[in-house]
Amino acid sequence: MSHGHTEAHGEHVPGVPEESRPPHGSRIDAYVDRYAMRARGMIASEVRALFAVASRPEVVSLAGGMPYVTALPLDVVGELVADLVARRGPVALQYGSGQGDAHLREQICEVMRLEGIDAHADDVVVTVGSQQALDLITRIFIDPGDVVLAEGPSYVGALGTFSAYQATVVHVPMDEYGLIPEALAETITGLAATGRRIKFLYTIPNYQNPAGVTLTAARRAEILRICQRANLLIIEDNPYGLLGFDGDPLPAIRASDADGVVYLGSFSKTLAPGFRVGWALAPHAVREKLVLAMESAVLSHSSFAQLAVGQYLATQPWREQIKTFRELYRERRDALLTSLEALMPPGCTWTRPGGGFFVWMTLPEGLDSKAILPRAVNARVAFVPGTGFYAGDEGSQHMRLSYCYPEPSRIREGVRRLAGVIREELELRDTFGSVTNRGRSGVDTPGPNLA
Ligand code: PMP
Repeated sequence: MSHGHTEAHGEHVPGVPEESRPPHGSRIDAYVDRYAMRARGMIASEVRALFAVASRPEVVSLAGGMPYVTALPLDVVGELVADLVARRGPVALQYGSGQGDAHLREQICEVMRLEGIDAHADDVVVTVGSQQALDLITRIFIDPGDVVLAEGPSYVGALGTFSAYQATVVHVPMDEYGLIPEALAETITGLAATGRRIKFLYTIPNYQNPAGVTLTAARRAEILRICQRANLLIIEDNPYGLLGFDGDPLPAIRASDADGVVYLGSFSKTLAPGFRVGWALAPHAVREKLVLAMESAVLSHSSFAQLAVGQYLATQPWREQIKTFRELYRERRDALLTSLEALMPPGCTWTRPGGGFFVWMTLPEGLDSKAILPRAVNARVAFVPGTGFYAGDEGSQHMRLSYCYPEPSRIREGVRRLAGVIREELELRDTFGSVTNRGRSGVDTPGPNLA
């Protein structure tokens, strides 16, 4: 029984050699009866197995949310890093503080000012990407069975973290204007009636991953009011806020409330994820817990990475670079939207993001994105099935399409391939009925680029 997951289903993943298949899934695990309870929640995500396939050059990947770091002046970044080691090596290569480099924390406050946040560097904790901030926050607040509210759909990496700490995620619906305040209020009331303990609301207000929608200013105020009334902490996760295509960014929710919001930011999309520098801005008491949790997790973030980011912000035109990214992603968003418009069969609908990386597509009735995926990969295009973005069984009629990484011409080609597959699926549906159980997916084992 040393076969990989795909074999366990008796099918081969099209175009994936045996040796490149993920070494997880249905292998017998000799330690299965020894894992802690929390390890049961550590289940690979939708995207993991897919990545082995989608990263092949012949596949147009509309799957992973990888920032286009090639647009950075890489030679300049290289010089900056070399200079850093030469001039400040003894500091850059030494342990640092659990809270993060003090100067970088001040620079982070300057970045947050662009979204109306007036913060003090003392309340910032530098983390290993905002992903680690999510992990630390969950570690601090969640006991097994506690409820976390999150948009439906929501970021797969956050859902994985919540699951690892045995939280119960309750989704709150969105529409094109973001999280629906009335639905939030109803969910809070409904849960209160059952005596369940809600620990926080997790929300991605800007260019949401995966839905691509943005919470309007009026709704931000309303959601804040609802949470304040319910004494509910908000975790505002905002890695895409500065990547809007039209006008200035909306003020963050945190801009209106310093006590009821933990704000998470990241340099992954405005600079590069390889530095792994993100942060949490938290109310004072929470910040202290975060530092302790940070120290127990990693002692301190990499001084080298923090100083490199600090040096970049101090010496490079970073606002201009963000503009460059925006223009680039806008062009790719346009390429995706215009080709969806031109090529997708009737019955498909999708969101129109004003920034960020993602479009959320809804398939015609009776089509199942997970069942379609192996055929799409066979046609050399990849996406993420919608089911990965829910804690439960929802999402099968949806898919996430990322436009951040492929060139516009490749995006058009990817959509052409995908539209062909969906048309075929519609023909099959009309001949044989629903596709849900017609053939098992070999790539349905979940897993990383959780981006
Ligand atoms: N939150 C959201 C909504 C994301 O999309 C991502 C990554 N794509 C993260 C957090 C984590 O990003 P990082 O750890 O690179 O800052």
